[in-house]
Amino acid sequence: MIKVINSWAGHYAYNTLDQNAILGSHTEVENFIFVSGFSGHGFQQSPAMGRGASELITYGAFKTLDLSPFSYARIKAGKPFLEKAVI
Ligand SMILES: Cc1cc2nc3c(=O)[nH]c(=O)nc-3n(C[C@H](O)[C@H](O)[C@H](O)COP(=O)(O)OP(=O)(O)OC[C@H]3O[C@@H](n4cnc5c(N)ncnc54)[C@H](O)[C@@H]3O)c2cc1C
Repeated sequence: MIKVINSWAGHYAYNTLDQNAILGSHTEVENFIFVSGFSGHGFQQSPAMGRGASELITYGAFKTLDLSPFSYARIKAGKPFLEKAVI
């Protein structure tokens, strides 16, 4: 007989619309900024997302990289920005 000796469980954020991150302001709730929904590839995107989020908070706009395709507005509009490299 085979027995499980140990195991673990963790949270896996998954954006069901397009499996891509959500970065930027909420369309209605003032001062609410999303940096979430990474769908299993948030670690590799974190340097750019962190910089983008800090620029958004500091300047109110992206400065070094235009990360607007990741906006929450696309979620609300139901317009996917599809990420295909998902495991
Ligand atoms: C099994 C697995 C494999 C993955 N493999 C890869 C990979 O190969 N490459 C890759 O790029 N990404 C991978 N990812 C995704 C990557 O790990 C995540 O996208 C990334 O860690 C998300 O970072 P985060 O800081 O947004 O959120 P998290 O790392 O989830 O951090 C959120 C933190 O907030 C804390 N928290 C939650 N609620 C509260 C609260 N109410 N008050 C205070 N603290 C709170 C949590 O405890 C946690 O520490 C994988 C994820 C999983 C689960």
